[in-house]
Amino acid sequence: MTDQPPASYAGPQRVLSGVQPSGALHLGNYLGALVKFARLQHEQDTLIFVADLHAITVWQDPALLATQTREITAAYLAAGLDPAKATIFPQSAVTAHAELGWIFQCVARLGWLDRMTQFKEKSGKHKERSSVGLYTYPVLQAADVLVYRATHVPVGEDQKQHLELTRDIAAKFNHDFNRPGFFPLPEGLIEGPGARIMSLRDGSAKMSKSDPSDNSRINLTDDADMIAQKIRKAKTDPEPLPESLEDLKTRPEADNLVGIYGALAEMTKAQVLAEFGGKGFGTFKPALADLAVAKLAPISDRMRRLMADPAEIDRVLAAGAEKAREVAAPTLDEVKKIVGFWR
Ligand code: ATP
Ligand code: MG
Repeated sequence: MTDQPPASYAGPQRVLSGVQPSGALHLGNYLGALVKFARLQHEQDTLIFVADLHAITVWQDPALLATQTREITAAYLAAGLDPAKATIFPQSAVTAHAELGWIFQCVARLGWLDRMTQFKEKSGKHKERSSVGLYTYPVLQAADVLVYRATHVPVGEDQKQHLELTRDIAAKFNHDFNRPGFFPLPEGLIEGPGARIMSLRDGSAKMSKSDPSDNSRINLTDDADMIAQKIRKAKTDPEPLPESLEDLKTRPEADNLVGIYGALAEMTKAQVLAEFGGKGFGTFKPALADLAVAKLAPISDRMRRLMADPAEIDRVLAAGAEKAREVAAPTLDEVKKIVGFWR
């Protein structure tokens, strides 16, 4: 092994991200991920996939999985992704993800995976009954990103640790095979007011598709009554909203609702408090519900219209898969050569 300093990656900038078809999309997915995708497609080469390989790390009803994949695609389009700009595709349709994923399983170290907090949260008390895939899923995620040599990954804050693992895998591959700069060390695009939306029932848990309580989240497909009801029932304390950001810090549920209001209204939390500080939740919650309905109703309307024509969604996914395969193929080919496989 030479001891020359690693050259940095010199290839093009590229954005990649995805969402699992593991249930209904919620406000956290929208603010933490979809809004960013729609913006970035205008700035950089952007690939956005539906993470069906990741979804099956926990049980998915086979009769629903393809429909859920179309639903995520409809949400992408409804949130403003344009198939003429971004490459939109199902992960399982590009086999290069799984192939590179295997090679990366042999690069990543067990100790690295043992530190992943999301596995601990998702497996809960029944670690030994979890699928092996749930444990190794961050390694496949590294392959998702690096098979396209993506340089930027827009995700919510919960993905920060997995992204660090992706960088570690890229660096170790480059080092072990003495190919400095072969893979980029991708950067997360995490910042933003919607990076970590919390559950409406528990200010210490993030809003999740897989949370068994539907009242914990606002789904993109919830109607106005449902949104108002969920916000009315959202866990809060009896105090009015504080006047200062400092006082908000010790009140996670209030902090979350103020954060959601700010993200939807494109206001800082301080601006939200300037308007609602000192007022009770009896005033704030209905205002938040009205705002959420005004912002989400057009998206859920578009989703419904798109879902009425699944053949069109399938055309988008098929065309995207073809494009993605073309981008991934030369990298996977080169990796196989680097590893020394017979060809
Ligand atoms: P699951 O519970 O099945 O893991 P999820 O709600 O965590 O579902 P994912 O498909 O795993 O959703 O994540 C898709 C994207 O949404 C990722 O970029 C993730 O970081 C982001 N995201 C998920 N939950 C939140 C949240 N509560 N706030 C902000 N971003 C989020
Ligand atoms: Mg998740």
